[in-house]
Amino acid sequence: MIPREFAYERPESVADAAGLLRSHGDGARVLAGGHSLLPMMKLRLAAPETLVDIGGISSLRGITDAGSYFEIGALTRHADLAGSDLLGLACPVLASAAAGIGDPQVRNRGTIGGSLAQADPHGDLPAVLVALDGEVTAEGPDGTRTIPARDLFRGFLTTSLAADEILTAVRVPKAPHSTYVKFNRRAQDWAIAGVAAVVDGDSARIALTGVGAAPVRAEAAERAFWGGNAAEAAARAADGLDPPSDAAGSADYRRHLARVLTLRALEEAIGG
Ligand SMILES: Cc1cc2nc3c(=O)[nH]c(=O)nc-3n(C[C@H](O)[C@H](O)[C@H](O)COP(=O)(O)OP(=O)(O)OC[C@H]3O[C@@H](n4cnc5c(N)ncnc54)[C@H](O)[C@@H]3O)c2cc1C
Repeated sequence: MIPREFAYERPESVADAAGLLRSHGDGARVLAGGHSLLPMMKLRLAAPETLVDIGGISSLRGITDAGSYFEIGALTRHADLAGSDLLGLACPVLASAAAGIGDPQVRNRGTIGGSLAQADPHGDLPAVLVALDGEVTAEGPDGTRTIPARDLFRGFLTTSLAADEILTAVRVPKAPHSTYVKFNRRAQDWAIAGVAAVVDGDSARIALTGVGAAPVRAEAAERAFWGGNAAEAAARAADGLDPPSDAAGSADYRRHLARVLTLRALEEAIGG
């Protein structure tokens, strides 16, 4: 439970942080809330030579109402998302997912940028970003680029961020008819499966957590929903899924959860 020795840097700007990441090469890792990286270091599943702690860059924190969408700084904590009245009304899928992450300690340290960069297949926020069709901004020594959610998540703990890029902001559209539901065995556990649903008139976008190496769009369910048919959509929610079997549940159990949770999420989103 003791990490390998590492060097520690605490830059004051994104440009300095990106410069440090480039100069230290593959041996450096960004540190945000530390609630995924530090446990991995303690278990020696990660052993960075240098930690670049971006926690002091205050410009990376906050939720801005930009009209039709929200711009959210990467260092915004889960507790800030969960407690935001703005998000609660205009983007409840994000607020409800954040409210169900871990326990109060995790929610008060963990950040939206860290959750997305970590790309844990059981993490809640990646599926939310996919269902919202949101995007992130990444800044590196060579400039700034926008990455749509569909291009961000590449597989197990893998994103399309370069090693010297920092995820600086998240943009999500307003989606008042949306929600996130997850199933776990004990309160505060990670999701065995979860569903993010965003309903917009006759159509819905649905993304699943815990049923693959990365968030999965339930496209057959989305097509079946057309016109508002939640039951038909839920029946198709596991079409094409190839979920893992592990100690938390078999593949069949996860398919079952995908259907049950999709119905719950769509009914809640329509009613919201
Ligand atoms: C007990 C416990 C329970 C938890 N339960 C849940 C749960 O139910 N649901 C859930 O979704 N999560 C859960 N988590 C994970 C938690 O949400 C983490 O906070 C989150 O996964 C990572 O965010 P962080 O800010 O702590 O990132 P860190 O741990 O600091 O970093 C995680 C990874 O992302 C990289 N990174 C961080 N920020 C950036 C950035 N801005 N740009 C580029 N790379 C970056 C780091 O280099 C590292 O590789 C749990 C964690 C714990 C310890």
